[in-house]
Amino acid sequence: MHQELNDEHRALQEMARDFAEKEIIPVAAERDRIQDPAETFSPELIKKGSVLGLRTLAVPDEFGGPGVDLMGQVLVILELARGDGGVAKTFSQCWKWTPMICRLATDEQRERFLPPFLEDDLYLLGMGGSEPGAGSDNRMPPPEDPTAGWKTAAVKDGNEYVINGMKHFIANGGVAKLYIIRTRTNPKVPISEGTTMFFVPADTPGFTIGRRHDKIGWRFYQNAELIFQDCRVPQENLLGELNKGKHDSSERFVSFNDVELAANVIGISQAAFEHALDHARNRVQGGKPIIGHQSIALKLSDMYMRLEAAKSYLFKVVESDQEEGAEFESSSKQLMKVFATECALQITRLAVEIFGGSGVMRDAPVEKLLRDANVFPHLAADSIMNLKAAAKLQ
Ligand SMILES: Cc1cc2nc3c(=O)[nH]c(=O)nc-3n(C[C@H](O)[C@H](O)[C@H](O)COP(=O)(O)OP(=O)(O)OC[C@H]3O[C@@H](n4cnc5c(N)ncnc54)[C@H](O)[C@@H]3O)c2cc1C
Repeated sequence: MHQELNDEHRALQEMARDFAEKEIIPVAAERDRIQDPAETFSPELIKKGSVLGLRTLAVPDEFGGPGVDLMGQVLVILELARGDGGVAKTFSQCWKWTPMICRLATDEQRERFLPPFLEDDLYLLGMGGSEPGAGSDNRMPPPEDPTAGWKTAAVKDGNEYVINGMKHFIANGGVAKLYIIRTRTNPKVPISEGTTMFFVPADTPGFTIGRRHDKIGWRFYQNAELIFQDCRVPQENLLGELNKGKHDSSERFVSFNDVELAANVIGISQAAFEHALDHARNRVQGGKPIIGHQSIALKLSDMYMRLEAAKSYLFKVVESDQEEGAEFESSSKQLMKVFATECALQITRLAVEIFGGSGVMRDAPVEKLLRDANVFPHLAADSIMNLKAAAKLQ
């Protein structure tokens, strides 16, 4: 650890490490192997973490939460993801959307949605943007096509909006109790001008969960289709401004995204490095522990180098974000996430190699980490789109 941590940070780090050791690691492999993707999730585990404050970590103190800062959040993710990236992300997905309730929502909306979020240990948050026909276009819509991007429509009818359409890949899908849904309220203009967000509680009539997606890794984390068929929400559920949904959800609220993902994949890398080091010290071949063979030692050095570099980059970005009056630097966050992801792909691959034949056996711990890491190039804006955005290309 390179950073000067304050007492609060250290306490958080210890709490998260303890939770990962005692509650996550003992069940992570077993949950990963469950075939039905809807069954990999454990409400009991989420409840235990929620009791420790892990679900509502980002709620500011003026709203009754612990108000943990970005550095504290990153430290917690690193520890939880070392235990299981999917569990870590289930919690941090709630932190990501907390500002929508605490900062963007109206007072009336906050009064409705914040108390249950604070009180119910299984109250998770989700956000639905992606659709089968709209992925990267939601982030970088081609300027020549105003219809590009999501199509799920919200049409005003009296005091209500009627939502029709379908989202897919949506995180915490099927387990969240409150979703923020991005809709088209004007289909004739680009999504930057015709998008509106709505709060949609999970039990709203006309809203159902479709398939749970069956991912190669990060299997604890739920991703599902959200289906809206004449789903009516009161106009009071409109979040932010009509037709300003793209702007309202811009980086001033969700800049956490890239930092969150980088911390998660570095936690996974940390676990891969530790397992590989332990195996290399204990596995004897060629008359000595394999760490004594130059080829294995070089692999471990390579892994360590990437792990330390990714951590340093992460902490540099977090620290600069927390500096007084710092300008938000979205490109450095995106590039850092891509870098951490590329490091993790190499680190987890080398860990599997160091385990030899057992590396690809499901009872060794490292093949799961390789699968978990391989989810990251496909997340949010995927790595290519991150690089493209950072380079300000269109
Ligand atoms: C585990 C997981 C969790 C997710 N959670 C959520 C969630 O909670 N909410 C949500 O809304 N979405 C979520 N997503 C969806 C995610 O945001 C999209 O998958 C992602 O934006 C990519 O979209 P796509 O899958 O449609 O790929 P596509 O857009 O079809 O891209 C396919 C390929 O083409 C490339 N490409 C596309 N357009 C361009 C371009 N203009 N220039 C150059 N290359 C291009 C891409 O880089 C990619 O390699 C999740 C996805 C995953 C895997």
